[in-house]
Amino acid sequence: MRQQTPTLARSWPIARVDEVEDRPFRVFTQRDLDRIEPLTRMSEEARFEMKVVSTVLPFRVNQYVVDELIDWDRVPDDPIYQLTFPQRGMLTDAHFERIAQLYRNGADKAVIEAAAHEVRLELNPHPADQMEMNMPRDAEGNRIEGIQHKYRETVLFFPSQGQTCHSYCTFCFRWAQFVGDKTLRIAASEARMLHGYLREHHEVTDLLFTGGDPMVMKTKHLQGYLEPLLAPEFDHIQTVRIGTKALSFWPHRFLGASDADELIDLLERMVKAGKHVALMAHYNHWREMETPAARAAIRRIRSTGAVIRAQGPLIKHINDDPAVWARMWKTQVSLGIIPYYFFVERDTGARNYFEVPLARAWEIYREAIQQVSGLARTARGPSMSASPGKVEVQGVSEINGEKVFVLRFIQGRNPDWVQRPFFAKYDDQATWLHHLKPAFGEEKWFWEDEYNAIRDDKVGAEA
Ligand SMILES: *Cc1c(COP(=O)(O)O)cnc(C)c1O
Ligand code: SF4
Repeated sequence: MRQQTPTLARSWPIARVDEVEDRPFRVFTQRDLDRIEPLTRMSEEARFEMKVVSTVLPFRVNQYVVDELIDWDRVPDDPIYQLTFPQRGMLTDAHFERIAQLYRNGADKAVIEAAAHEVRLELNPHPADQMEMNMPRDAEGNRIEGIQHKYRETVLFFPSQGQTCHSYCTFCFRWAQFVGDKTLRIAASEARMLHGYLREHHEVTDLLFTGGDPMVMKTKHLQGYLEPLLAPEFDHIQTVRIGTKALSFWPHRFLGASDADELIDLLERMVKAGKHVALMAHYNHWREMETPAARAAIRRIRSTGAVIRAQGPLIKHINDDPAVWARMWKTQVSLGIIPYYFFVERDTGARNYFEVPLARAWEIYREAIQQVSGLARTARGPSMSASPGKVEVQGVSEINGEKVFVLRFIQGRNPDWVQRPFFAKYDDQATWLHHLKPAFGEEKWFWEDEYNAIRDDKVGAEA
């Protein structure tokens, strides 16, 4: 079997909604590995490896991705296959063998799950102190679950019904939310809490719905969160962003799905009421924008007046190639999508399999950006969402004979850090901020003392 939709020529027009055939949502998880048709042609051993890896890391894929996005003739190198299917190299040998032995010995499900839980805890499930440092408190000092407020203007909200996705990305840094460990979950129970918090915080202008994928929610749930924001008391909330990968993994969410029309109406009403509505579309590869359904969904969202901005991480085996990024950004601009962030993959989960050194990330970014016009140069990066803030690698330079990284904060816990260039010793292996050391023999970063004070303050409040 080949994917049913041929790759579209660049001149192929954007599909109209009525030209795209509806299809039911059908999803596969670890239990269904044997029922994914193209996998049945793989060796027993390959499927066993998948089973072992997906015991630790989340696995979920849907029929649209299997049929229309993956080119099975190119497996295992196909980027969308790497994006969605578990690979042996995603676990260390020790972790892999630990789980594999249990299966080989016919261990109990509970025993296997307990071992998988322990392995997960060794994979840095909550990087960048997300749990401790970003969760706000109410007037009585209780933590407000489901909300993160790290940067002054922007509140992140994790609706409890949106903590899953139409498929899972193998590299996902939110992976700990999907594997059913209650203690690791960050989720809200109520819209009321969100609205209450925003009512008290007039410095907040941007609300960012995230997950998982909020677009897995029924439209009526989305309405419950979003509709009240149209009241005058929320005039300070000027921008509502919705982070989603549905445009890639399930574009039918915006087309034929049961409540797609209501969703489109909702977006339109919000725009008409004066909100800036932005879909923050997660893309990893131009291929995700090539199907008729993907193009029809993009067109339909744009017709509401909502904008689509694109963001995604740089991932080895998927898109560590300037040509892929250049073509992706060009495709986005041609479809009316604005390139926004080029992320460095976080230090969590299967990072050894996916990570790209910062020096290489910058080269890929630079070589890609050089190939596109100014309208596609809105992509910022390579950007690390680290605990002190979003740190961009602006480049590699040599100053007084010392090779350095030039860095800047795109966002910082203290807004005053933003846009001040700072310098790290060049290191061709470093993959994350905490691997870097200040350049020029400095003992610490200019922001370090202040950051430590903020951290002690927030984390200390736990005690
Ligand atoms: C990136 C990010 C934001 C949004 O920052 P912008 O610069 O406005 O895109 C908000 N909160 C968190 C935690 C983020 O990581
Ligand atoms: S769509 Fe986003 S949240 Fe969902 S698995 Fe992929 S990266 Fe993670």
